Amino acid sequence: MQIIIFGPPGAGKGTQAKKIAEEYEIPHLSTGEIFRSAIKNETPLGKKVKSILDAGDLVPDQTVVDLVEEELKKDKYEDGYILDGFPRTVPQAEAFDEILDSNGKTLDAFLVLEVPEQELVDRILSRGEGRSDDTEEGIKNRLEVYEKETAPVLNYYKEQGKVNAIDGVGSIDEIFSRIKDALEK
Ligand code: AMP
Repeated sequence: MQIIIFGPPGAGKGTQAKKIAEEYEIPHLSTGEIFRSAIKNETPLGKKVKSILDAGDLVPDQTVVDLVEEELKKDKYEDGYILDGFPRTVPQAEAFDEILDSNGKTLDAFLVLEVPEQELVDRILSRGEGRSDDTEEGIKNRLEVYEKETAPVLNYYKEQGKVNAIDGVGSIDEIFSRIKDALEK
């Protein structure tokens, strides 16, 4: 099962992706986590993307697409995966379609977590993960980048008839149960 979880920063993608991974026994692939771990380990990739993440900007499409393409070659992704934080631009979505195609796979679900905008900032500020991009400036920029670059990805998948909208307000378990209902429909 190939699943994408999508939504603005602070919508709870990472939290729900982890629960989906556990329930359906598929690996969770988070591009943001890969970047944060590369930065922590001071790898060449980490050095390249650190200032981009700190500012809340997007890593160049080619860098992200190459990374995802390489990662998905690992055996553990053979029987499916949950993608979190990718694709984040229309060119990434197009490139991902080609990757799926060349692997002989299709996308099973595109889940969008819907959360009112005023709640997003509060959630990010209160989650206290200590992320270096969780400053007021960083959050503001991430929300702007989301509207401009990432929101159009939703239309891309709407045109493919793949979008499942999930009410992202409520407890973690309530939201997860809506996701399960959508996936098992
Ligand atoms: P996330 O953990 O998904 O919120 O991602 C944290 C940061 O990593 C983002 O603000 C971007 O700087 C970068 N990033 C993660 N995924 C992508 C992507 N698909 N395209 C571009 N930048 C990304």
